[in-house]
Amino acid sequence: MSFKNISCQDRVINLFQKAIIHDHLAHAYIFVGQEGIGKTLFSKELAKAIFCQHPGADACDTCSHCQRIANDHFPDLLFILPEENSRAIKIEQLRYLQEFLNVKPLESKYKIAIIQSADKMNEESSNCLLKTLEEPPSYAIIVLIITSLESVRETVRSRCQIIRFSPLSVTAVKDILVNRFQLDTKQAERLACISNGSIERAALLSGTRALENKNWLVDRILTLEMNDNLSFSKELLNEWHIQDLEVLEEKRSQVKELIISFLLYYRDLLVCKTGENDLPLHYRDWKEALLSKSTSLSDDVLFRIINVIKTSLEHLDRNANITLLLENMITKILYLQFARGITQSIF
Ligand SMILES: [Zn+2]
Repeated sequence: MSFKNISCQDRVINLFQKAIIHDHLAHAYIFVGQEGIGKTLFSKELAKAIFCQHPGADACDTCSHCQRIANDHFPDLLFILPEENSRAIKIEQLRYLQEFLNVKPLESKYKIAIIQSADKMNEESSNCLLKTLEEPPSYAIIVLIITSLESVRETVRSRCQIIRFSPLSVTAVKDILVNRFQLDTKQAERLACISNGSIERAALLSGTRALENKNWLVDRILTLEMNDNLSFSKELLNEWHIQDLEVLEEKRSQVKELIISFLLYYRDLLVCKTGENDLPLHYRDWKEALLSKSTSLSDDVLFRIINVIKTSLEHLDRNANITLLLENMITKILYLQFARGITQSIF
């Protein structure tokens, strides 16, 4: 692998290739973008390009440095990620990062520390990182990988150069599913359409009941009525088999998938309202039903519903009670969809 194998991130690649050639690398970066679009993969390729023994703007992939980075055995590169079954990056891990950076590079002129899921740092860990960011050693490069900027403290953000990653195109996701995961073209295309530009989501969905779950959800959501409120939350928990999951993290991840599916549905309705012929819909099999539904809801209502869903996603990440969260989200959506609509049409 090298930058050549990274999909849909040409702007970011160009930026770093220039920085490497002109030796203008910053001490700290934040890589931000949704999950599963290649931020971690890119960070590893970036480390290779920086450490490669053959000077240039991309890794050679054959020298000893490139090979050892590929095998996670390079002494000047450190990856930190939440330990298994842990929701947080612990203070001990940040202290280890400090010690790592305090020792001069062994084989290169840089030392790179990459923190995956840096949004999972608690207050104590953030403080520890902040101290390092305030006075980084001259040879240090720190990369924080996150999904949303709000999840990192302003004091940390302000000391980092922010690099935004784009979602992958449907074609890129489809090609990766076919070439790397050996899925057949038809299935790859359907999964790519509902992946929201994330290869991780698409791969995850391919091994689950995801397609059936989503088909059920869209069929059901199209026929929702105002008084479905509490019964619909219970239906969701049953139909998506969320009740059956015993590990809390698995439950949370399934609920996240469910909420994102809601988000994609209402985004599709907004897309329908643009009136373009070639609509880039996630649920393209329901195109006619979505077009018809979209005429009954105003842009304002759809934006409000989308905000409700995004807020629910944020709360989910903050340990909210799953059942209450779903009930609350659905009540608000139904109110906006029906009560507001009625009020607006009367007045
Ligand atoms: Zn190399």
